[in-house]
Amino acid sequence: MTTKRPPTALEKMGLNSPMALALHLPSRYEDETELFTIEEALGLGRFHSIQTQGVVIRNQVMFRPRRQLLVTIEDDTASLQLRFLNFYPSQQKQMAVGNHIRVRGEIREGYQGAEIVHPTVRAVIPEAPLPASLTPVYPASAGISQTMIRKAVLKALQDASLKNSLAEFLPSTLMAEILPKNDWPPLQDAITYLHQPPADTNTQSLLERTHPAWRRVQFEELLAQQISLKRAHAIRRERRAPSFVKGQQASKLSKTSKTKNSIEEGLLKILLFELTGAQARVWSEIGYDLSNTFPMNRLLQGDVGSGKTVIAALAAARAMDHGYQAAIMAPTEILAEQHYLKMQEWFGPIGVKIAWLSGSLKAKEKRLAQEMIESGEAQLIIGTHALIQDKVSFAKLGLAVIDEQHRFGVRQRLEIQQRVSSELFYCHQLMMSATPIPRTLAMTYYADLDVSVIDELPPGRKPIATKVVKAARRDEVIGGLHDWLVKGLQAYWVCPLIEESEVLQLQTAVESFEQLTQALPNFKVGLVHGRLKSEEKAAVMAAFKANEIQLLVATTVIEVGVDVPNAALMVIEHAERFGYAQIHQLRGRVGRGSADSVCILMYAEPLSMAAKERLQTLRETSDGFVIAERDLSLRGPGELLGAKQSGDAMLRFVDLQRDAWLIELAQTAAERLLAEHADLVERHLERWLGSRTEFLKA
Ligand code: ADP
Ligand code: MG
Repeated sequence: MTTKRPPTALEKMGLNSPMALALHLPSRYEDETELFTIEEALGLGRFHSIQTQGVVIRNQVMFRPRRQLLVTIEDDTASLQLRFLNFYPSQQKQMAVGNHIRVRGEIREGYQGAEIVHPTVRAVIPEAPLPASLTPVYPASAGISQTMIRKAVLKALQDASLKNSLAEFLPSTLMAEILPKNDWPPLQDAITYLHQPPADTNTQSLLERTHPAWRRVQFEELLAQQISLKRAHAIRRERRAPSFVKGQQASKLSKTSKTKNSIEEGLLKILLFELTGAQARVWSEIGYDLSNTFPMNRLLQGDVGSGKTVIAALAAARAMDHGYQAAIMAPTEILAEQHYLKMQEWFGPIGVKIAWLSGSLKAKEKRLAQEMIESGEAQLIIGTHALIQDKVSFAKLGLAVIDEQHRFGVRQRLEIQQRVSSELFYCHQLMMSATPIPRTLAMTYYADLDVSVIDELPPGRKPIATKVVKAARRDEVIGGLHDWLVKGLQAYWVCPLIEESEVLQLQTAVESFEQLTQALPNFKVGLVHGRLKSEEKAAVMAAFKANEIQLLVATTVIEVGVDVPNAALMVIEHAERFGYAQIHQLRGRVGRGSADSVCILMYAEPLSMAAKERLQTLRETSDGFVIAERDLSLRGPGELLGAKQSGDAMLRFVDLQRDAWLIELAQTAAERLLAEHADLVERHLERWLGSRTEFLKA
């Protein structure tokens, strides 16, 4: 019987094969290739990290001012003191008087002259040769020493199998074409170089990862990613989805519908506005996708208030005109409700049957909704996660719209599609987001996603003036709020986000509500928060919309989707606690009517540097793209897109901002490889992704 041994610390880090170890590249290097005499070292002065060596002439534990170990070494030129504030008996032994040691660290002026505090120490034979290459420092985890990793990597680099794994097989003609001035080393050389850079290397370019050896590795990595994403794209095209061609609707539905006309035309008649140029353009892009016989996978991107909802409604109308169901899923109950109300306003009069499904429905209501969905009686289905969480089966779903897509994980987004899909049939998918995705991201994370952008706001929008105000001036703000309400306008008061405690968050909202109710006796103040039942929330929102409530105190539940044009002032308390995207979203609730709009960001001191910069940026710009770029540089793409986006786990060595130009090269190379060297594609993917290809199927 074989007993299964527990994984070693290295294996736990995924370093379980020569290839994995070879690709475990250093995060930085230490220079142990140069040795100074003690006199030279002292001459270099402070802030120089130096390496020197000598024989120990003193080794003494002192107890004042605190327990510490003082060691003095000496060579032919001078002597130098080493000071250790923490030390082990083994170190004391290593530095026993008479031993030769090599030390590395920064010289500084101590009380008793020049010294090094906590140098790196290594026992040496006096004539020991210096290493010829820089010493790599690897990403490690607890319980693994650098020595362990270095040994393992060194052994791996000598493993015979690596020659094959790292063999050069990108056709040189192809490389020469896409990279005319190719100063990149072959892959195996690049990897060896990065593990053991020669002493005279340009360390700057190694650290910045712009050295040709790094470029080579980054290119290979991007190439693997581009190939897999392109392949996902090809696979999608082989799938089948119902084709919705404008004007060719199923006759069956026109008969059951109240009107003989198409739902799409009915909707266009009911709308009180014309589509903007940008809306018309994205609608034609989406309309084209819907006419295809393979599933649409499109992201509709448009700043807060740019009018994405009506595009979703048009797409739904087209699917319904062909006798299929359409579903709209939103991340929060409040947002889903807004959609439900809007769709009833638009589709109700033309007799479209709409089902509403959310987690907060009573069991009986839920069952009724599910029955409507299963029987096909419901043509349009609106809801929250409940659409995928509960056991809903759609009679004939042709289109799924996912609003604020970044709030859902990849799995959730796919689930709705998988729910109705078989090998032969997929529904079309439209994702919507107000969070702009920079081009470099769209090209990598989303290579299999088509993107449409609404880059124009509906006419008549006023710019929002944003002010940043200290919390100490709260009374002044309330005074201004009073004058505002006197003019017959409405306002929002957003209470701080308290991530640690929902109870605390609620409590502060109630306090602000009470204070404002007292301070503004002539106006009706309302309160809405996440703990309210959905009917209660809806009632408050309806009262606000009807101007029965003039000031709405709210927690972040109003972050998305709320639409009251007469409310053009927003006060955000403790704005310093919100992120870029949240404030941008919140602020997008105002500036929708004819009045000049104002957003007041109140902050409490002290402000961190990051918060200060954030508030300043938000005051200066309301351009969603600028804000998203800032956000990206701050948080990194993973967080911006939701942690588990496909493509994410694939990039280890590439920085999408620094290496943007490489992406285009890799894209071209991927296309050429797939078209001309299909046999090499598999090998390349295997070498780079190994077991990690799994998530691409998701
Ligand atoms: P978002 O893109 O943030 O979801 P909405 O779809 O909620 O934006 O639209 C914001 C507001 O603009 C809504 O009141 C909507 O009815 C209105 N709207 C949308 N398109 C137009 C248009 N072409 N002309 C005028 N108003 C429009
Ligand atoms: Mg919206």
